[in-house]
Amino acid sequence: MVDLKGQYEKIKPEIDQAMNEVIESTAFINGPAVKTFAANLENYLDVKHVIPCGNGTDALQVALMALDLNPGDEVITSTFTFIATAEVIALLDLKPVLVDVDPDTFNLDPEKVKEAVSERTKVIIPVHLFGQCSDMDQIMNIARKHNLSVVEDACQAIGADHQSEDGKTRKAGAIGDIGSMSFFPSKNLGAFGDAGAVFTNNDELAKKMRGIVNHGSFKKYYHEYVGVNSRMDTLQAAILDVKLKYLDNYIEARQKAAKYYDENLNHPKILTPERSEFSTHVFHQYTLKLAPSVDREKMKQYLKDKGIPSMVYYPVPLHLQKAYLVDGKGKGSLPVAEQLSEQVLSLPMHTELDQEQLEYIVKTILNYLES
Ligand SMILES: *Cc1c(COP(=O)(O)O)cnc(C)c1O
Repeated sequence: MVDLKGQYEKIKPEIDQAMNEVIESTAFINGPAVKTFAANLENYLDVKHVIPCGNGTDALQVALMALDLNPGDEVITSTFTFIATAEVIALLDLKPVLVDVDPDTFNLDPEKVKEAVSERTKVIIPVHLFGQCSDMDQIMNIARKHNLSVVEDACQAIGADHQSEDGKTRKAGAIGDIGSMSFFPSKNLGAFGDAGAVFTNNDELAKKMRGIVNHGSFKKYYHEYVGVNSRMDTLQAAILDVKLKYLDNYIEARQKAAKYYDENLNHPKILTPERSEFSTHVFHQYTLKLAPSVDREKMKQYLKDKGIPSMVYYPVPLHLQKAYLVDGKGKGSLPVAEQLSEQVLSLPMHTELDQEQLEYIVKTILNYLES
């Protein structure tokens, strides 16, 4: 699905040098590279504050911890996402309110969000799934109307541009109150291990989150908040700072591969990904919708036998996960996500896909569908 080795080989001298500098300095925690990377990412995202942390899951948790919530407060998010989004809500004794998604973009359906708002709602977490932004104009409008905070789960969408009705273009994660990012190795900007970040334009929230990621402390052994230990390793920051310079090239490579898939996967039994009208797509995943008549498991196996990996993101929506059967929403309650979970199939998508590989993947898929 990804080719991390091929990507590394291309910039090996730069990466190795950056790592060696950290090793020689032995400043493994909060070394200078962490600050440098944060500043460069602030610049890239055009946000005031980037606070590096341990991983994307922690980023979401730290964001929620900064928002002065009380046990039982409700947080609205998508049922069609990676578990981390709902996990941190539950861990903080908040109530995940899972809502259905748009069948074309796979992102939160604003109409469903409106219906889900209650007296206890405090936060909306839109997830910019697979690499394109949710409908942030509508989500921000709902949030303003009901005085809710917005935490964007931008873990899959670094670099995606959202065009707002006000004419402004902003990066995924830089629109709501707080953005959360993951640099898990397979993400579009991937570290060599776990890493993440939260970011915001709000000075107060930034200050609080800076404390929270470091045991709630600004001065060693003095603790203002209950915090966590979630810092970005200096080594990861040094690696990410090198790779950040290439991020726009990486995005372009993914978009080029996606374009090839779009133009060549012409078959009545598959739908290629729809583009949202207000966001660019950075293709963390390239996800097909298969016609109900296609046996997805059989197709996956056929591709596997021909040396082509494929994945189902996600086979079970969160409201049907055993650990999250909390609010009595059973099968049939969020039908769009349920149907998608049976129909989607993600193809290999990364920065190193060459023409020969793309042609082979497309030819093999079409062969299967014709057989
Ligand atoms: C990857 C991911 C996360 C979690 O990031 P980690 O760095 O793996 O903790 C959260 N939400 C979404 C949508 C993700 O894709």
